[in-house]
Amino acid sequence: ASVALSDALAGLDPAQLEAVEHGDGPLVVAAGAGTGKTRVLTGRVARLLDAGVVPERILLLTFTRRAASAMLSRAAAMCGDAQAAQRIPGGTFHAVAHRIVAEHAQHLGLQDVTVIDPDDVVDLIDLLRAEHGLDGTEVRLPTTRTIADIASRTINTATPVRAIIEEQFPWALEQADQIAELLRHYRARKRERGLLDLDDLLIAWRALVSDPDVGARLRARWDWVLVDEYQDVNQLQVDIVRGLRPDGRGLTVVGDDAQAIYAFRGASAGHLLELVEAYPDASLVRLERNFRSTQPILDLANDVRPGELKLRLVADRPQQGARPALVACRNADDEARTIADRILAAHVDGTPLRSQAVLMRTGSHSAQLEVELKVRGIPFHKFGGIGYLETSHVRDLLASFRVVLNPADEVSWYRLLTRHRAIGKANARTLAGILADGGVDRASDAVAAAPAKARTGLASTLSLLGAVDVTTAVPELVEACRAAVDPLLRAHYPDWHRRVTEVDGIAQAAAAQPDLRTFVSEQAIDRVNVAGDWAKQPHLDEDWLTLSTIHSAKGLEWDAVHLMRANDGAMPSDMALTSSAGLAEEQRLFYVALTRARDTLDVYVPSQLPTHPTAFLARHVAAKPSRFLSESARPLMEAVNTAALTLAPAPAPGPALKPAETAPRVRTDAFDELFA
Ligand code: ATP
Ligand code: MG
Repeated sequence: ASVALSDALAGLDPAQLEAVEHGDGPLVVAAGAGTGKTRVLTGRVARLLDAGVVPERILLLTFTRRAASAMLSRAAAMCGDAQAAQRIPGGTFHAVAHRIVAEHAQHLGLQDVTVIDPDDVVDLIDLLRAEHGLDGTEVRLPTTRTIADIASRTINTATPVRAIIEEQFPWALEQADQIAELLRHYRARKRERGLLDLDDLLIAWRALVSDPDVGARLRARWDWVLVDEYQDVNQLQVDIVRGLRPDGRGLTVVGDDAQAIYAFRGASAGHLLELVEAYPDASLVRLERNFRSTQPILDLANDVRPGELKLRLVADRPQQGARPALVACRNADDEARTIADRILAAHVDGTPLRSQAVLMRTGSHSAQLEVELKVRGIPFHKFGGIGYLETSHVRDLLASFRVVLNPADEVSWYRLLTRHRAIGKANARTLAGILADGGVDRASDAVAAAPAKARTGLASTLSLLGAVDVTTAVPELVEACRAAVDPLLRAHYPDWHRRVTEVDGIAQAAAAQPDLRTFVSEQAIDRVNVAGDWAKQPHLDEDWLTLSTIHSAKGLEWDAVHLMRANDGAMPSDMALTSSAGLAEEQRLFYVALTRARDTLDVYVPSQLPTHPTAFLARHVAAKPSRFLSESARPLMEAVNTAALTLAPAPAPGPALKPAETAPRVRTDAFDELFA
């Protein structure tokens, strides 16, 4: 090995080193949070490159695009060959599926590949409901989101629609036939318009893998397949991985079944050990030591950890560290203020904002906190659970690209049409049908069918979009789309001035693409990046705080973690309270959250919560601490109580960080009342 690599490997513990130096037999690394699984995978990539393996022959599958690029740059540093590492194909299952499917579009009988994201799926099913008279009050179908969810579970678990409804949505059983019919229309319409949803991408990839010719070529293409976070793959993904490596040669997967948090999307726990059984010559490596957190943090995590007790995490770090804080707050506003206070206190003590994160079960939980952070001038960036409002303008611009690239893209037409004043939903559906059938060639029919008040605007949009097509140079195409949507968005969004920078960011990024179609599809696949990488991500030299859903925090770590709203009904989510499988998943989610912390962990428990998370004037009702903070967990935590603090008026907005005016008081007596 090169000197650079030997140095990098010198820090590994014996079990990690064994996994890194393992040969080409199937390898499964099953180990707890923070034990260095991702580091081992990175080490293997570095070792392969160092041994002269052609980078294109390594396939690296990760959970987010960010994770893939982070691993590749680390591997580059380890083996000292940055260029080689950047050539490794890597990313999410969906992103890789998209590349493979686009390459084999003809073989699959597709003219071109247009990927629709989960929101488009809902729009399309809505369209079909209206078309087939399934949106009225006579037939009481579940919401379109639920129907989309049923569709996805059907695909991801290879279970018939009726069985899924029986198992998971029994209250909708009477409408099972209508739902199944609607989903048949949905499939037919996707085929007709050349649209693929995210599940279709995986189905198509799997079909290619099991095709005799294409499959053989795909198997020959990669010698090494490495998968991170394997506990969260679903059956389709398992089939793809196993289909690519039928004898397990060159396959490495790492994961932690205790962190499986995607059962709702069809993942099932136990995949790691299943794989060990599937390959009789598989090697199973377990890592024991946790290199991330202090022991007091791990003590709490071990207490919350579901499943086998013997897999307790033990800290490798010598420092003892403080016990996790259990911070009792009065209500959601108090929680927001207290979090801001404690973030600033940590900041003053030397923990920069970028080393801190606020984690939450659901994106909407941070409504009050976001306002508080803005008022205090604390810069932050939110990952995961990005709401409709935050991305809709970005998606509007993307929709304009999409109708130019694929005029049959009915959902994108629908989206653009509803952005016109005076075009209602029903009208937008009709017009979208006309335009999807004939593209801008039928512009005059569409204009004629539009309400009188909308005609001038629509005619102008269509003439701008009609001036370009797939053959137009990308920058020119982007400019035409921008010209078409700008006036619509300006009139549609009252806060356009706040959105325009993001639209600029996307337009600039798009204009620089060699292949706009791939860019557009990738935005549908990895939506976090729409807002994340292109537009909102602050410059690296700026200091900013992370707000994230727990799902999006997977695999990441921060010096200080603030876990908000540890209440029953929030975490576990009230939707999970009725099923034991749902509860178990919430418990693993809680475990994932706790194990993100390196040095300090604050868990916030308001004693009152608004009945509706994002309504600022909503009534507050009493809230209980999360059931996961059990009797045995509490002695492992330091009680902090702020409930007795008087309300201080919110400071005036300003750019400078404002230190906490009152330090949180510690009072354990009132705190106990919370659990009474
Ligand atoms: P998760 O389950 O959360 O994804 P993981 O098992 O993938 O965790 P890593 O992210 O690879 O764990 O490692 C956790 C932290 O420990 C990282 O900061 C990593 O750099 C560090 N680490 C891993 N192995 C070692 C080691 N041998 N010596 C020092 N630090 C290490
Ligand atoms: Mg990891």
